[in-house]
Amino acid sequence: MSYAFTLLGDDAGSAARRGRLQTLHGVIETPTFMPVGTLGTVKGVTPAQLKALGAQVILGNTYHLYLRPGMEVVEALGGLHRMAGWDRPILTDSGGFQVFSLRDRSTIRESGVTFSSHLDGSRHVLTPESAIAIQETLGSDIMMVFDECPPADASAQRVRAAMERTTRWAKRCLEARTRDDNALFGIVQGGVDPQLREVSARAITEIGFDGYALGGLSVGEGRYDMWRSVRHAAPLLPTGSPRYLMGVGTPEDLLFSVGHGIDMFDCVLPTRNARNARVFTFAGDLNLRNAAFRLDDRPISDTCDCYTCTNFSRGYLRHLHKAKELLFSTLTSIHNLGFLIAMMGRLRSAIEDGTFVELRRDLLAKRGCLELLDQVEAEAPR
Ligand SMILES: [Zn+2]
Repeated sequence: MSYAFTLLGDDAGSAARRGRLQTLHGVIETPTFMPVGTLGTVKGVTPAQLKALGAQVILGNTYHLYLRPGMEVVEALGGLHRMAGWDRPILTDSGGFQVFSLRDRSTIRESGVTFSSHLDGSRHVLTPESAIAIQETLGSDIMMVFDECPPADASAQRVRAAMERTTRWAKRCLEARTRDDNALFGIVQGGVDPQLREVSARAITEIGFDGYALGGLSVGEGRYDMWRSVRHAAPLLPTGSPRYLMGVGTPEDLLFSVGHGIDMFDCVLPTRNARNARVFTFAGDLNLRNAAFRLDDRPISDTCDCYTCTNFSRGYLRHLHKAKELLFSTLTSIHNLGFLIAMMGRLRSAIEDGTFVELRRDLLAKRGCLELLDQVEAEAPR
């Protein structure tokens, strides 16, 4: 058995948990944040730099890798780990989120989704079976089921239909597996409707997977609705399995959700923001384009010990950005990823020594989100 999840402890003052995931390519301590490596690379950051930041697992995108470079190339180059020079765990999504965000370029049938490539318009079909086959070829340590992810503005009827189809497709994904040395996670859908979430959670956990994800959140519903949904839906998932909140997010979303029992997160935000000169600090995000930083010799954050903050000033980074130097994106990506990874490390330690609630309140206050936390947590259960 190369895959296992062990719950190491619960926080006394919240629903936060400390866990450990064993995979074929090593151990993942949870709660954890997973940097996104869409095309087999976390943009602008080398695997050695990711390791130095303490990244335990990265994410690869089935849709993108299937289209480019394509499975023939990935196979010829020894699978995703070898091709990308990353020997730690990799989680792959199923492509569902991407094909559904193509909207007018995709047609949904019960068999699967026909879509035209965003690269050259060529026609392709992704089914539950092919999504699993592609992820097995990639050599994923944690695979995701192929799910239907409706947009935040979808009608109640559409959200229900998507949730029901996700359940049928989840069964087909399970049957399509040919490997038993990696993990397959189910995905709970249902938008921000508590009843639908309950029906979906029951159906997906009845089928039985190695872990469970909440999908269809952080798709434009707003922070208040997202936090309420996480608070309601996380406890619907089995306590003995890892829980993954897909596509989230910001430091405050991670702080909130860890306190409600979420173990895993991924998001493109830290690296995308970094390339756009937006960097995290506990005093709020900074925009390094700002002229106020021209002569500023302080690091991005004086409490961050990443390579960027240890060696470079805001003024120098602003200069790199203005001069369009390649190093800019690398240094800001290192900081934003390092910031979240270090924060998750602090949360793990705090869960272990019983100071999590205090730390979470302190950090959420610094990010200006304490009021929202208290508002959501004071509400009657849904
Ligand atoms: Zn830093």
